[in-house]
Amino acid sequence: VKVVVRCRPMNQRERELRCRPVVTVDCARGQCCIQNPGAADEPPKQFTFDGAYHVDHVTEQIYNEIAYPLVEGVTEGYNGTIFAYGQTGSGKSFTMQGLPDPPSQRGIIPRAFEHVFESVQCAENTKFLVRASYLEIYNEDVRDLLGADTKQRLELKEHPEKGVYVKGLSMHTVHSVAQCERIMEAGWKNRSVGYTLMNKDSSRSHSIFTISIEISAMDEWGKDHLRAGKLNLVDLAGSERQSKTGATGERLKEATKINLSLSALGNVISALVDGRCKHIPYRDSKLTRLLQDSLGGNTKTLMVACLSPADNNYDETLSTLRYANRAK
Ligand code: ADP
Repeated sequence: VKVVVRCRPMNQRERELRCRPVVTVDCARGQCCIQNPGAADEPPKQFTFDGAYHVDHVTEQIYNEIAYPLVEGVTEGYNGTIFAYGQTGSGKSFTMQGLPDPPSQRGIIPRAFEHVFESVQCAENTKFLVRASYLEIYNEDVRDLLGADTKQRLELKEHPEKGVYVKGLSMHTVHSVAQCERIMEAGWKNRSVGYTLMNKDSSRSHSIFTISIEISAMDEWGKDHLRAGKLNLVDLAGSERQSKTGATGERLKEATKINLSLSALGNVISALVDGRCKHIPYRDSKLTRLLQDSLGGNTKTLMVACLSPADNNYDETLSTLRYANRAK
């Protein structure tokens, strides 16, 4: 498991509120420090990760340094999972989906598409099949973002060989990067979006875009060898705690489920990292059950923890740093 942090620039609201920056990043050391704005005499809390990125770093650099080897592994037949974690508005979608312009800020998902297609097309004596699926987990219900009926709740099933899968999830054969991008955009529009005080376009669901690759390569004796790799690109729901979001009723119920599944994910990753645990608590949430074969084992996992630099987000940012710290 690799963990990196990315601190975004101050946004307009934070500038208008005259927020002060409390996060500093030392990229050479992979360190991130946070100063408690309420206790100036306290020393800053320091965390070290596999990478630390600040406002000047573009997604292109993060991809090349950290995501590239993981996606390369998928084209060789391993599974890989990339998560974006953080409070709403911290830059998860910016990192995963990105902006078309400038090209250096294109997201990890479209870069991964391009990478996968380039590498499968370059390989000699091989045939390949690339398929994509896109689902969301909202209130512990699984929905197909690319299905004929995106409102239908799908069931998780377990197959003795295939492992855990979503019954009825649509799989789309893709032949090009452009087609992958169209699928991503279509699915993105079908997500459940909720309104909280923090961000009116806040995502209250976890979304998982999966690219599956099957490669059949002929060896020098003319024998076929089949390899299969799977890449999960996961945009997690906002990690903020309920008190700050002003949630009530349905929204509060949502928030409780989000917090539960994020802590289940944290528990699974830290149990895997610890290595001594015999029992990995995959069954505690839909998210971890679904990703069971893509976390641990021969899977590479990358978490990008997204941070706001502003003092008014101190508590949330500290909690993100602690979460990320447990995962390494
Ligand atoms: P989230 O998905 O975590 O809720 P977003 O990715 O939507 O947050 O980011 C919130 C806003 O901040 C967006 O307007 C986005 O363009 C901007 N933003 C996020 N990260 C960066 C960054 N590293 N550089 C510039 N702008 C960013």
